[in-house]
Amino acid sequence: MAPPSDRNGRRRRRALLLPLPYHGHVNPMLRLAAALHARGLAVTVVHAETRVPDRRSLPAGCELVTVPDGIPPELAASNDIPSFVFALNRNCAAPFRDLLAAALREDDDGRRVACVVVADVDWFAPLTAARELGVPALALMTSSAARFRVYMAYRRLSEMGYLPVQESNMDKPVDELPPLLVRDLHARMDTARHVAYADLLDHIVAGVRQSSGLILNTFDAIERADVEHIRRDTSIPVFPVGPLHAISPVAAPQQSGALPEEDRSCLAWLDTQLPGSVLFVSFGTLVSIDADELMELAWGLAGSNRPFLWVVRPRLVRGRDSVELPGELLQEIRGRGVIVRWVPQEEVLSHPAIGAFVTHCGWNSTLESISKGVPIICKPCGSDQLGTARYVCDMWKVGVRVEIKDKVTREGIQVAIERLMDGKEGEMVRDRIIEMSDVVSKCTMKGGSSELAMNDLVDFIESS
Ligand code: UDP
Repeated sequence: MAPPSDRNGRRRRRALLLPLPYHGHVNPMLRLAAALHARGLAVTVVHAETRVPDRRSLPAGCELVTVPDGIPPELAASNDIPSFVFALNRNCAAPFRDLLAAALREDDDGRRVACVVVADVDWFAPLTAARELGVPALALMTSSAARFRVYMAYRRLSEMGYLPVQESNMDKPVDELPPLLVRDLHARMDTARHVAYADLLDHIVAGVRQSSGLILNTFDAIERADVEHIRRDTSIPVFPVGPLHAISPVAAPQQSGALPEEDRSCLAWLDTQLPGSVLFVSFGTLVSIDADELMELAWGLAGSNRPFLWVVRPRLVRGRDSVELPGELLQEIRGRGVIVRWVPQEEVLSHPAIGAFVTHCGWNSTLESISKGVPIICKPCGSDQLGTARYVCDMWKVGVRVEIKDKVTREGIQVAIERLMDGKEGEMVRDRIIEMSDVVSKCTMKGGSSELAMNDLVDFIESS
Protein backbone atom coordinates (compact mmCIF):
# COMPACT_ATOMS: atom_id res chain seq x y z
CA MET A 1 0.00 0.00 0.00
CA ALA A 2 1.62 3.27 -1.12
CA PRO A 3 1.17 6.17 1.35
CA PRO A 4 -1.69 8.22 -0.13
CA SER A 5 -1.38 11.88 -0.97
CA ASP A 6 -3.44 14.32 -3.02
CA ARG A 7 -2.42 16.37 -6.07
CA ASN A 8 -0.75 18.94 -3.83
CA GLY A 9 1.26 16.33 -2.01
CA ARG A 10 -0.93 16.49 1.14
CA ARG A 11 -1.59 13.24 2.97
CA ARG A 12 -5.05 11.80 2.33
CA ARG A 13 -6.80 9.62 4.85
CA ARG A 14 -7.04 6.01 3.75
CA ALA A 15 -10.20 3.95 4.20
CA LEU A 16 -9.71 0.18 4.42
CA LEU A 17 -12.97 -1.43 3.28
CA LEU A 18 -13.76 -5.04 4.16
CA PRO A 19 -16.69 -6.60 2.31
CA LEU A 20 -18.15 -9.95 3.31
CA PRO A 21 -17.24 -12.14 0.30
CA TYR A 22 -20.76 -12.64 -1.07
CA HIS A 23 -21.91 -10.74 -4.16
CA GLY A 24 -24.87 -9.10 -2.36
CA HIS A 25 -22.39 -7.66 0.18
CA VAL A 26 -19.40 -6.94 -2.10
CA ASN A 27 -21.53 -4.98 -4.57
CA PRO A 28 -22.73 -2.29 -2.10
CA MET A 29 -19.31 -2.11 -0.40
CA LEU A 30 -17.63 -1.40 -3.75
CA ARG A 31 -20.23 1.28 -4.48
CA LEU A 32 -19.28 2.80 -1.14
CA ALA A 33 -15.61 2.50 -2.13
CA ALA A 34 -16.30 4.47 -5.32
CA ALA A 35 -18.26 7.14 -3.43
CA LEU A 36 -15.52 7.62 -0.79
CA HIS A 37 -12.81 7.71 -3.44
CA ALA A 38 -14.77 10.28 -5.45
CA ARG A 39 -14.85 12.43 -2.30
CA GLY A 40 -11.08 12.46 -1.92
CA LEU A 41 -10.27 9.49 0.30
CA ALA A 42 -7.67 6.89 -0.61
CA VAL A 43 -9.45 3.53 -0.67
CA THR A 44 -8.07 0.03 -0.21
CA VAL A 45 -10.45 -2.90 -0.48
CA VAL A 46 -9.34 -5.72 1.82
CA HIS A 47 -10.86 -8.97 0.59
CA ALA A 48 -10.71 -12.53 1.83
CA GLU A 49 -9.06 -14.99 -0.59
CA THR A 50 -12.45 -16.61 -1.14
CA ARG A 51 -14.33 -15.23 -4.19
CA VAL A 52 -11.90 -12.36 -4.61
CA PRO A 53 -13.20 -9.77 -7.12
CA ASP A 54 -11.49 -9.31 -10.45
CA ARG A 55 -9.18 -6.29 -10.00
CA ARG A 56 -10.49 -4.85 -13.28
CA SER A 57 -14.01 -4.68 -11.84
CA LEU A 58 -12.92 -2.51 -8.90
CA PRO A 59 -13.90 1.19 -8.98
CA ALA A 60 -11.16 3.28 -10.60
CA GLY A 61 -8.44 4.39 -8.20
CA CYS A 62 -9.21 1.79 -5.49
CA GLU A 63 -6.54 -0.69 -4.43
CA LEU A 64 -7.18 -4.35 -3.65
CA VAL A 65 -5.32 -6.47 -1.11
CA THR A 66 -6.26 -9.95 0.00
CA VAL A 67 -5.95 -11.64 3.38
CA PRO A 68 -5.58 -15.41 3.72
CA ASP A 69 -8.80 -16.92 5.08
CA GLY A 70 -8.00 -20.65 5.19
CA ILE A 71 -11.65 -21.47 4.48
CA PRO A 72 -12.21 -24.91 2.92
CA PRO A 73 -13.86 -24.62 -0.55
CA GLU A 74 -16.73 -26.91 0.60
CA LEU A 75 -17.62 -24.46 3.36
CA ALA A 76 -17.31 -21.46 1.02
CA ALA A 77 -19.67 -23.16 -1.46
CA SER A 78 -22.19 -24.23 1.17
CA ASN A 79 -25.22 -22.30 2.38
CA ASP A 80 -24.04 -22.56 5.97
CA ILE A 81 -23.53 -18.85 6.32
CA PRO A 82 -23.09 -18.69 10.14
CA SER A 83 -20.23 -21.25 9.96
CA PHE A 84 -18.65 -19.40 7.04
CA VAL A 85 -18.90 -16.05 8.81
CA PHE A 86 -17.43 -17.38 12.06
CA ALA A 87 -14.55 -19.06 10.17
CA LEU A 88 -13.84 -15.83 8.27
CA ASN A 89 -13.76 -13.81 11.47
CA ARG A 90 -11.57 -16.35 13.24
CA ASN A 91 -9.12 -17.07 10.44
CA CYS A 92 -8.61 -13.53 9.19
CA ALA A 93 -8.27 -11.81 12.56
CA ALA A 94 -4.47 -12.12 12.87
CA PRO A 95 -3.62 -11.47 9.18
CA PHE A 96 -5.85 -8.40 9.18
CA ARG A 97 -4.31 -7.07 12.40
CA ASP A 98 -0.84 -7.41 10.82
CA LEU A 99 -2.01 -5.68 7.67
CA LEU A 100 -3.54 -2.81 9.60
CA ALA A 101 -0.44 -2.41 11.78
CA ALA A 102 1.73 -2.29 8.63
CA ALA A 103 -0.59 0.29 7.02
CA LEU A 104 -0.31 2.43 10.14
CA ARG A 105 3.50 2.26 10.08
CA GLU A 106 3.58 3.21 6.37
CA ASP A 107 0.99 5.94 6.37
CA ASP A 108 1.58 7.54 9.75
CA ASP A 109 2.43 11.21 9.33
CA GLY A 110 2.99 11.66 13.06
CA ARG A 111 -0.04 13.90 13.46
CA ARG A 112 -3.11 11.67 13.26
CA VAL A 113 -4.16 8.10 12.67
CA ALA A 114 -3.79 7.61 8.95
CA CYS A 115 -6.54 5.06 8.35
CA VAL A 116 -10.12 4.23 9.09
CA VAL A 117 -11.63 0.77 8.79
CA VAL A 118 -15.07 0.16 7.26
CA ALA A 119 -16.12 -3.47 7.70
CA ASP A 120 -19.30 -5.33 6.82
CA VAL A 121 -21.29 -5.84 10.04
CA ASP A 122 -20.82 -9.61 9.55
CA TRP A 123 -17.04 -9.21 9.46
CA PHE A 124 -16.81 -7.98 13.03
CA ALA A 125 -13.28 -9.12 14.03
CA PRO A 126 -11.56 -6.27 12.12
CA LEU A 127 -13.63 -3.78 14.11
CA THR A 128 -12.02 -5.17 17.29
CA ALA A 129 -8.53 -5.15 15.76
CA ALA A 130 -9.00 -1.52 14.71
CA ARG A 131 -10.19 -0.52 18.17
CA GLU A 132 -7.16 -2.19 19.78
CA LEU A 133 -4.82 -0.31 17.44
CA GLY A 134 -6.58 3.00 18.05
CA VAL A 135 -8.02 3.19 14.54
CA PRO A 136 -11.57 4.50 14.02
CA ALA A 137 -13.79 1.75 12.62
CA LEU A 138 -17.23 1.91 11.08
CA ALA A 139 -19.60 -0.92 10.19
CA LEU A 140 -21.63 -1.23 6.98
CA MET A 141 -25.03 -2.95 7.06
CA THR A 142 -25.77 -4.01 3.48
CA SER A 143 -29.36 -4.98 4.25
CA SER A 144 -32.18 -2.79 5.54
CA ALA A 145 -32.37 -0.74 8.74
CA ALA A 146 -35.41 -2.84 9.63
CA ARG A 147 -33.28 -5.97 9.41
CA PHE A 148 -30.67 -4.45 11.70
CA ARG A 149 -33.45 -3.80 14.21
CA VAL A 150 -34.30 -7.51 14.02
CA TYR A 151 -30.63 -8.27 14.73
CA MET A 152 -30.70 -5.99 17.77
CA ALA A 153 -33.93 -7.52 19.09
CA TYR A 154 -33.22 -11.17 18.23
CA ARG A 155 -31.88 -12.29 21.60
CA ARG A 156 -34.68 -10.52 23.50
CA LEU A 157 -37.32 -11.92 21.14
CA SER A 158 -35.91 -15.40 21.77
CA GLU A 159 -36.15 -14.88 25.52
CA MET A 160 -39.71 -13.61 25.11
CA GLY A 161 -40.64 -16.83 23.27
CA TYR A 162 -41.21 -15.34 19.80
CA LEU A 163 -38.22 -17.30 18.47
CA PRO A 164 -37.48 -19.81 17.11
CA VAL A 165 -40.48 -19.43 14.80
CA GLN A 166 -43.14 -22.06 15.54
CA GLU A 167 -46.15 -23.16 13.49
CA SER A 168 -48.37 -21.91 16.33
CA ASN A 169 -47.08 -18.30 16.53
CA MET A 170 -46.21 -17.50 12.92
CA ASP A 171 -49.03 -15.02 12.42
CA LYS A 172 -48.54 -13.21 15.70
CA PRO A 173 -47.53 -9.54 15.31
CA VAL A 174 -44.14 -8.66 16.79
CA ASP A 175 -45.26 -5.71 18.93
CA GLU A 176 -41.75 -4.27 19.15
CA LEU A 177 -41.16 -4.32 15.39
CA PRO A 178 -44.29 -3.32 13.51
CA PRO A 179 -45.38 -4.23 10.84
CA LEU A 180 -43.51 -7.54 11.18
CA LEU A 181 -45.18 -10.83 12.09
CA VAL A 182 -43.24 -13.62 13.74
CA ARG A 183 -43.07 -15.41 10.36
CA ASP A 184 -41.13 -12.40 8.99
CA LEU A 185 -38.29 -12.72 11.51
CA HIS A 186 -36.79 -15.85 10.05
CA ALA A 187 -37.54 -19.07 8.18
CA ARG A 188 -38.29 -21.96 10.51
CA MET A 189 -35.11 -23.68 11.69
CA ASP A 190 -34.08 -26.37 14.11
CA THR A 191 -32.83 -25.49 17.59
CA ALA A 192 -29.14 -26.00 16.75
CA ARG A 193 -29.33 -23.58 13.82
CA HIS A 194 -31.35 -21.11 15.85
CA VAL A 195 -28.71 -21.14 18.61
CA ALA A 196 -25.87 -20.67 16.09
CA TYR A 197 -27.72 -17.84 14.39
CA ALA A 198 -28.51 -16.05 17.67
CA ASP A 199 -24.84 -16.35 18.64
CA LEU A 200 -23.78 -14.83 15.30
CA LEU A 201 -26.17 -11.92 15.74
CA ASP A 202 -24.85 -11.28 19.28
CA HIS A 203 -21.36 -10.89 17.79
CA ILE A 204 -22.61 -8.66 14.98
CA VAL A 205 -24.58 -6.35 17.25
CA ALA A 206 -21.77 -6.15 19.84
CA GLY A 207 -19.33 -5.25 17.04
CA VAL A 208 -21.56 -2.44 15.82
CA ARG A 209 -22.24 -1.09 19.30
CA GLN A 210 -18.50 -0.78 19.92
CA SER A 211 -17.74 0.75 16.54
CA SER A 212 -17.38 4.45 15.74
CA GLY A 213 -20.46 4.53 13.52
CA LEU A 214 -22.88 2.57 11.36
CA ILE A 215 -23.38 3.07 7.63
CA LEU A 216 -26.74 1.89 6.28
CA ASN A 217 -27.56 1.10 2.66
CA THR A 218 -30.96 2.70 3.00
CA PHE A 219 -32.50 6.15 2.79
CA ASP A 220 -34.52 8.29 5.12
CA ALA A 221 -37.67 8.43 3.03
CA ILE A 222 -38.37 4.71 3.33
CA GLU A 223 -36.88 3.77 6.70
CA ARG A 224 -36.67 6.99 8.72
CA ALA A 225 -38.32 5.47 11.82
CA ASP A 226 -36.04 2.43 11.79
CA VAL A 227 -32.93 4.57 11.27
CA GLU A 228 -33.95 6.82 14.16
CA HIS A 229 -34.57 3.84 16.37
CA ILE A 230 -31.08 2.47 15.65
CA ARG A 231 -29.57 5.91 16.38
CA ARG A 232 -31.29 6.07 19.75
CA ASP A 233 -30.57 2.49 20.69
CA THR A 234 -26.87 2.38 19.74
CA SER A 235 -25.94 5.99 20.56
CA ILE A 236 -23.40 5.96 17.71
CA PRO A 237 -23.49 8.08 14.54
CA VAL A 238 -25.65 6.44 11.85
CA PHE A 239 -25.30 7.32 8.16
CA PRO A 240 -28.20 6.31 5.84
CA VAL A 241 -26.31 6.80 2.55
CA GLY A 242 -28.28 4.48 0.26
CA PRO A 243 -29.27 3.21 -2.13
CA LEU A 244 -25.56 2.80 -2.81
CA HIS A 245 -26.11 1.55 -6.38
CA ALA A 246 -27.81 4.87 -7.13
CA ILE A 247 -25.26 7.02 -5.26
CA SER A 248 -22.42 5.30 -7.12
CA PRO A 249 -23.53 3.93 -10.47
CA VAL A 250 -20.42 1.88 -11.32
CA ALA A 251 -20.38 -1.59 -12.89
CA ALA A 252 -21.21 -4.51 -10.57
CA PRO A 253 -18.10 -6.43 -9.43
CA GLN A 254 -17.09 -9.75 -10.97
CA GLN A 255 -16.02 -12.31 -8.35
CA SER A 256 -13.79 -15.11 -9.56
CA GLY A 257 -15.66 -18.35 -10.12
CA ALA A 258 -18.61 -17.13 -8.06
CA LEU A 259 -21.14 -16.25 -10.75
CA PRO A 260 -21.84 -17.19 -14.37
CA GLU A 261 -20.98 -14.97 -17.34
CA GLU A 262 -23.43 -12.14 -17.92
CA ASP A 263 -25.85 -12.83 -20.77
CA ARG A 264 -26.36 -9.52 -22.56
CA SER A 265 -28.34 -10.95 -25.47
CA CYS A 266 -31.46 -10.68 -23.29
CA LEU A 267 -31.28 -6.89 -23.68
CA ALA A 268 -31.71 -7.20 -27.46
CA TRP A 269 -34.69 -9.53 -26.86
CA LEU A 270 -36.20 -6.98 -24.46
CA ASP A 271 -35.92 -4.38 -27.27
CA THR A 272 -38.43 -6.49 -29.25
CA GLN A 273 -41.05 -6.52 -26.47
CA LEU A 274 -43.87 -4.07 -25.71
CA PRO A 275 -43.31 -1.49 -22.95
CA GLY A 276 -44.26 -2.73 -19.47
CA SER A 277 -45.11 -6.22 -20.75
CA VAL A 278 -42.27 -8.46 -19.53
CA LEU A 279 -41.97 -10.19 -16.16
CA PHE A 280 -38.38 -10.28 -14.92
CA VAL A 281 -37.77 -13.20 -12.57
CA SER A 282 -34.64 -13.55 -10.45
CA PHE A 283 -33.84 -14.88 -7.00
CA GLY A 284 -30.42 -13.31 -6.45
CA THR A 285 -27.17 -15.10 -5.82
CA LEU A 286 -27.70 -17.44 -2.87
CA VAL A 287 -31.27 -18.70 -2.65
CA SER A 288 -31.87 -22.39 -3.42
CA ILE A 289 -35.33 -23.81 -3.98
CA ASP A 290 -36.39 -27.40 -4.46
CA ALA A 291 -37.14 -28.92 -7.84
CA ASP A 292 -40.93 -29.03 -7.22
CA GLU A 293 -40.99 -25.35 -6.40
CA LEU A 294 -39.06 -24.56 -9.57
CA MET A 295 -41.62 -26.51 -11.63
CA GLU A 296 -44.55 -24.67 -9.99
CA LEU A 297 -42.83 -21.36 -10.71
CA ALA A 298 -42.18 -22.41 -14.32
CA TRP A 299 -45.80 -23.49 -14.89
CA GLY A 300 -47.08 -20.35 -13.14
CA LEU A 301 -45.05 -18.18 -15.52
CA ALA A 302 -46.15 -20.27 -18.49
CA GLY A 303 -49.79 -20.00 -17.40
CA SER A 304 -49.59 -16.19 -17.11
CA ASN A 305 -49.45 -15.97 -20.91
CA ARG A 306 -47.04 -13.09 -20.63
CA PRO A 307 -43.47 -12.70 -21.88
CA PHE A 308 -40.86 -13.32 -19.21
CA LEU A 309 -37.11 -13.21 -18.67
CA TRP A 310 -36.04 -15.68 -16.01
CA VAL A 311 -32.60 -16.02 -14.39
CA VAL A 312 -31.99 -19.68 -13.57
CA ARG A 313 -28.44 -19.59 -12.25
CA PRO A 314 -26.42 -22.68 -11.26
CA ARG A 315 -27.59 -24.14 -7.93
CA LEU A 316 -30.89 -22.25 -7.97
CA VAL A 317 -32.25 -25.75 -7.51
CA ARG A 318 -30.68 -27.20 -4.40
CA GLY A 319 -27.60 -29.26 -5.25
CA ARG A 320 -27.95 -28.92 -9.05
CA ASP A 321 -25.63 -27.05 -11.37
CA SER A 322 -28.22 -26.86 -14.13
CA VAL A 323 -31.91 -27.49 -14.67
CA GLU A 324 -33.70 -29.30 -17.48
CA LEU A 325 -37.27 -28.20 -18.05
CA PRO A 326 -39.73 -30.67 -19.62
CA GLY A 327 -40.30 -30.44 -23.40
CA GLU A 328 -44.01 -29.80 -22.90
CA LEU A 329 -43.26 -26.68 -20.86
CA LEU A 330 -40.60 -25.45 -23.31
CA GLN A 331 -43.17 -25.87 -26.09
CA GLU A 332 -45.69 -23.80 -24.09
CA ILE A 333 -43.30 -20.87 -23.52
CA ARG A 334 -41.61 -20.91 -26.93
CA GLY A 335 -41.06 -17.37 -28.21
CA ARG A 336 -42.13 -15.64 -25.01
CA GLY A 337 -40.08 -17.14 -22.19
CA VAL A 338 -36.34 -16.46 -22.13
CA ILE A 339 -34.26 -18.37 -19.59
CA VAL A 340 -30.68 -17.27 -18.86
CA ARG A 341 -28.02 -17.96 -16.23
CA TRP A 342 -27.10 -14.38 -15.26
CA VAL A 343 -28.08 -10.90 -16.49
CA PRO A 344 -26.89 -7.33 -15.94
CA GLN A 345 -29.81 -6.86 -13.54
CA GLU A 346 -29.73 -3.09 -13.16
CA GLU A 347 -29.77 -2.67 -16.95
CA VAL A 348 -32.61 -5.15 -17.24
CA LEU A 349 -34.65 -3.33 -14.60
CA SER A 350 -34.05 -0.05 -16.44
CA HIS A 351 -35.45 -1.45 -19.69
CA PRO A 352 -38.87 -0.03 -20.62
CA ALA A 353 -40.16 -3.50 -21.56
CA ILE A 354 -40.02 -4.69 -17.95
CA GLY A 355 -43.44 -4.60 -16.29
CA ALA A 356 -42.76 -6.33 -12.97
CA PHE A 357 -39.99 -8.03 -11.00
CA VAL A 358 -40.70 -11.44 -9.47
CA THR A 359 -38.01 -11.45 -6.78
CA HIS A 360 -36.90 -13.17 -3.58
CA CYS A 361 -36.73 -9.62 -2.09
CA GLY A 362 -32.99 -9.55 -1.47
CA TRP A 363 -32.24 -6.04 -0.26
CA ASN A 364 -30.14 -5.05 -3.30
CA SER A 365 -32.78 -6.36 -5.71
CA THR A 366 -35.51 -4.52 -3.80
CA LEU A 367 -33.63 -1.21 -3.82
CA GLU A 368 -32.77 -1.63 -7.51
CA SER A 369 -36.43 -2.32 -8.36
CA ILE A 370 -37.68 0.66 -6.34
CA SER A 371 -35.14 3.04 -7.82
CA LYS A 372 -35.99 1.93 -11.38
CA GLY A 373 -39.74 2.16 -10.67
CA VAL A 374 -40.43 -1.52 -11.37
CA PRO A 375 -43.33 -2.97 -9.29
CA ILE A 376 -42.49 -6.04 -7.28
CA ILE A 377 -43.96 -9.53 -6.96
CA CYS A 378 -42.55 -10.87 -3.70
CA LYS A 379 -41.56 -14.51 -3.29
CA PRO A 380 -39.27 -14.30 -0.24
CA CYS A 381 -37.35 -17.45 0.70
CA GLY A 382 -35.85 -16.65 4.12
CA SER A 383 -33.72 -14.31 6.28
CA ASP A 384 -34.09 -10.56 5.58
CA GLN A 385 -36.22 -11.25 2.48
CA LEU A 386 -39.26 -12.06 4.64
CA GLY A 387 -39.31 -8.72 6.44
CA THR A 388 -38.47 -6.82 3.26
CA ALA A 389 -41.48 -8.40 1.52
CA ARG A 390 -43.66 -7.24 4.43
CA TYR A 391 -42.42 -3.65 4.03
CA VAL A 392 -42.79 -3.80 0.22
CA CYS A 393 -46.41 -5.00 0.33
CA ASP A 394 -47.86 -3.58 3.56
CA MET A 395 -45.87 -0.46 4.32
CA TRP A 396 -44.61 1.00 1.04
CA LYS A 397 -47.31 -0.71 -1.07
CA VAL A 398 -45.01 -1.09 -4.08
CA GLY A 399 -45.64 -4.78 -4.63
CA VAL A 400 -47.84 -7.82 -4.10
CA ARG A 401 -47.03 -11.13 -2.47
CA VAL A 402 -47.21 -14.65 -3.85
CA GLU A 403 -49.62 -16.23 -1.37
CA ILE A 404 -48.29 -19.52 -0.03
CA LYS A 405 -50.27 -21.92 2.16
CA ASP A 406 -48.08 -25.00 2.57
CA LYS A 407 -45.99 -24.62 -0.54
CA VAL A 408 -45.70 -22.51 -3.67
CA THR A 409 -48.25 -23.37 -6.35
CA ARG A 410 -48.56 -22.37 -10.00
CA GLU A 411 -51.99 -20.92 -9.21
CA GLY A 412 -50.48 -18.76 -6.44
CA ILE A 413 -47.88 -17.43 -8.90
CA GLN A 414 -50.50 -16.70 -11.55
CA VAL A 415 -52.81 -14.91 -9.11
CA ALA A 416 -49.99 -12.64 -7.92
CA ILE A 417 -49.06 -11.83 -11.54
CA GLU A 418 -52.68 -11.03 -12.42
CA ARG A 419 -53.15 -8.86 -9.32
CA LEU A 420 -50.15 -6.80 -10.31
CA MET A 421 -50.42 -6.69 -14.09
CA ASP A 422 -54.23 -6.24 -14.38
CA GLY A 423 -56.78 -4.24 -12.46
CA LYS A 424 -56.99 -1.51 -9.84
CA GLU A 425 -54.53 -2.89 -7.27
CA GLY A 426 -51.78 -3.11 -9.91
CA GLU A 427 -52.47 0.46 -11.00
CA MET A 428 -52.09 1.73 -7.45
CA VAL A 429 -48.87 -0.21 -6.96
CA ARG A 430 -47.46 1.13 -10.24
CA ASP A 431 -48.30 4.74 -9.29
CA ARG A 432 -46.77 4.26 -5.89
CA ILE A 433 -43.49 2.81 -7.16
CA ILE A 434 -43.08 5.64 -9.65
CA GLU A 435 -43.44 8.07 -6.73
CA MET A 436 -40.87 6.06 -4.77
CA SER A 437 -38.41 6.05 -7.65
CA ASP A 438 -38.71 9.85 -7.83
CA VAL A 439 -37.95 9.97 -4.12
CA VAL A 440 -34.81 7.88 -4.70
CA SER A 441 -33.67 10.29 -7.43
CA LYS A 442 -34.23 13.25 -5.13
CA CYS A 443 -32.46 11.77 -2.12
CA THR A 444 -29.38 10.80 -4.11
CA MET A 445 -28.99 14.10 -5.98
CA LYS A 446 -27.07 17.12 -4.63
CA GLY A 447 -28.62 18.25 -1.35
CA GLY A 448 -30.72 15.07 -1.01
CA SER A 449 -30.79 13.18 2.29
CA SER A 450 -28.45 10.39 1.16
CA GLU A 451 -25.99 12.74 -0.48
CA LEU A 452 -25.89 14.80 2.72
CA ALA A 453 -25.44 11.63 4.80
CA MET A 454 -22.53 10.65 2.53
CA ASN A 455 -20.95 14.10 3.02
CA ASP A 456 -21.44 13.76 6.80
CA LEU A 457 -19.78 10.35 6.63
CA VAL A 458 -16.75 11.74 4.77
CA ASP A 459 -16.48 14.65 7.24
CA PHE A 460 -16.71 12.16 10.09
CA ILE A 461 -13.94 10.00 8.59
CA GLU A 462 -11.76 13.03 7.89
CA SER A 463 -12.15 14.41 11.39
CA SER A 464 -11.99 11.22 13.47
N1 UDP B 1 -27.84 -9.84 -9.89
C1 UDP B 1 -27.33 -9.61 -11.14
N2 UDP B 1 -27.69 -10.47 -12.14
C2 UDP B 1 -28.52 -11.51 -11.98
C3 UDP B 1 -29.06 -11.74 -10.67
C4 UDP B 1 -28.69 -10.88 -9.65
O1 UDP B 1 -26.58 -8.66 -11.36
O2 UDP B 1 -28.77 -12.24 -12.94
C5 UDP B 1 -27.43 -8.93 -8.80
C6 UDP B 1 -28.54 -7.98 -8.43
O3 UDP B 1 -28.51 -6.84 -9.26
C7 UDP B 1 -28.24 -7.66 -6.97
C8 UDP B 1 -27.49 -8.91 -6.48
O4 UDP B 1 -27.16 -9.68 -7.63
O5 UDP B 1 -27.39 -6.53 -6.88
C9 UDP B 1 -28.34 -9.78 -5.59
O6 UDP B 1 -28.40 -9.20 -4.33
P1 UDP B 1 -29.65 -9.32 -3.39
O7 UDP B 1 -29.36 -8.56 -2.14
O8 UDP B 1 -30.87 -8.92 -4.11
O9 UDP B 1 -29.78 -10.87 -3.12
P2 UDP B 1 -28.77 -11.97 -2.52
O10 UDP B 1 -28.08 -12.54 -3.67
O11 UDP B 1 -27.84 -11.29 -1.57
O12 UDP B 1 -29.71 -12.92 -1.88
